[in-house]
Amino acid sequence: MSTEAKNKLIQGSTGPWEVVVGLEVHCQVLSKAKLFSGASTVFGADPNSQVSFVDAAMPGMLPVINRYCVEQAVRTGLGLKAKINLFSVFDRKNYFYPDLPAGYQISQYKNPIVGEGEVLIDLPGGEVARVGIERLHLEQDAGKSLHDQHPDHSFVDLNRSGIALMEIVTKPDLRSSEEAAAFLKKLRAIVRYLGTCDGNMDEGSMRADVNVSVRKPGAPLNTRCEIKNMNSVRFIVQAIEFEARRQVDVLESGGTIHQQTLLFDAKNGETRPMRSKEEAHDYRYFPDPDLLPLELEQAWVDGIASSLPELPDEKKNHFMEMGLSSYDALVLVAEKEAADYFEAMLKEGAEPKAAANWLNNEYFGRLNKVGLAIGDGPVSAAANSAIVQMISANVISGKTAKDVLDIVWSEGGDPRSLVESRGLKQVTDTGAIEEAVDKVIAANPDKVAAAKAKPSLVGWFVGQVMKATGGKANPVSVNAIVKERLGIPEEG
Ligand code: MN
Repeated sequence: MSTEAKNKLIQGSTGPWEVVVGLEVHCQVLSKAKLFSGASTVFGADPNSQVSFVDAAMPGMLPVINRYCVEQAVRTGLGLKAKINLFSVFDRKNYFYPDLPAGYQISQYKNPIVGEGEVLIDLPGGEVARVGIERLHLEQDAGKSLHDQHPDHSFVDLNRSGIALMEIVTKPDLRSSEEAAAFLKKLRAIVRYLGTCDGNMDEGSMRADVNVSVRKPGAPLNTRCEIKNMNSVRFIVQAIEFEARRQVDVLESGGTIHQQTLLFDAKNGETRPMRSKEEAHDYRYFPDPDLLPLELEQAWVDGIASSLPELPDEKKNHFMEMGLSSYDALVLVAEKEAADYFEAMLKEGAEPKAAANWLNNEYFGRLNKVGLAIGDGPVSAAANSAIVQMISANVISGKTAKDVLDIVWSEGGDPRSLVESRGLKQVTDTGAIEEAVDKVIAANPDKVAAAKAKPSLVGWFVGQVMKATGGKANPVSVNAIVKERLGIPEEG
C-alpha cells in the first residue's frame, strides 16, 4: 500500500493535505519521593502539605538526586527500546511563573538520559506502525496556580512542585489523529507494564503537548503549532482534527502558519492562541551548578534490563503462540490488568483459547456494562477459570455456564460446588436424553411429519428437549439423537 493511500489525507480546495503530528508526553514517575527532595508525591493531599524547603526554593537549599527516579527513567528507556545515555546533564530552564518558586525548572537539555527508541502502534485492521522516539529526559514538575478559589486572589499549591517527570518526545512520525490516539494508548500500556508511571490522565500523571503541521504529500515539513497540556485522548483527537483543518484553510487562502502555542477549548472544540512560541534560547539554559553530571554504570543498566517484565508486544506474540487470534491477544494485552487476569486463569488450569473467548465474550462485556474495572470485578480469576474448565470437560453447557457466572457475580461462591449443589450438571447420560427425545416425538406427531419433509425443523425438537431437561442436556447429543430418531441423515 502506498503511503498516500494509507495515510488519512485532508481534502482541501487545492487537493489533498497530509497531517504531521509529533508528541511531547510528560509522564509522572511512579516514586514515593520527588526528583530532588524527600517530600511525598501522593495525589490529592491538602494544598502545600507536601513541600520541602528544596521544593519551595528556599535560599541555600540544595537538590539531591533521587536514585529511584533515575532507575525508573532508565527502565522506561529500555521499554522504549531506546539508547540509554551513561552520561547526562541537568540544566536550568529559566522562566518566570508564580508556581515556579526557583524561577527555573531543573530539566535536561543537550544531554538527556535516554536517546532514540521506538514504539510500535496497533492500528485498526491489524496493521502495525513504527513511531520513532527522539529522546526521554528527566525534569521537575511545577506547582499549580489556583484561580477559582477566591474572587480577587490566586493561590499557589506547591505539592506538585519538584515531582519527577519523564518527558518523552516522538519524531514527527504520526500521520493522523487516530495514530496519535493509538500511540498514547500504547505508551500508557508500556509504562503501566513497567510500573514507571500510573498513566492516569485524569489526575494529570500523563499529559501531552501536541505538535501539528500540514503539508502536501511528500513535501518537506511545514511550520508547526503546539497545542499545550492535554490530558484526554478524546480531546487530543478533536484538537488535531480541528487544528489541521484550520492550517489547511489558512494556507489555501494564501496565509502563513506562524509557530505558536495553542490551547484547546474543549467546550467549543477549537484551538486558540496562548502565546507566541518561545525559542530554546529564550530559556537561557545552562548546566545546574548544584548538580554533577549524571554518570551511570553499564552493569547497573544491564541489571535493570534483566529485570524488565514482558511488555505488551512480546506478550501479544506469546499469547498468539498459545493459539489466540491476533485480535483476542491485542484485547488482552491492551490493559495490564486484563493480561494478568487471563494469565491467572491459565495458572488455575483453564485452556488458553477457551479462557480468552470466555473473557472477551462474556466477562469483560459484563464488566463494561456496569462500568467496572477488571480489578474491581466481583468474580475471581480462579472462579472464571473453574467455569471455563467445566465447559471444556462437558460438565456444564455453555448456556449453564452463563447462568453460573450470573450466580457467582451476584451471590459469590465456588462455581464447582454451586454446579453440584444446584444440580446444574449437564446430562451426558444418553439414556436420559433418549427418553426425553422420545417423549417430545410421541407428543408431536404432526411436527414429526413436517420435519421429515423439512429437516431444519430439527432445531424445534432440540429446543423442546432442552426445555424439558432444564437446559442441562448436552445440545450436541440431543441434536444427534433427534436426527437419528427421525431418520434424518447427520450431514444435513
Ligand atoms: Mn517539559
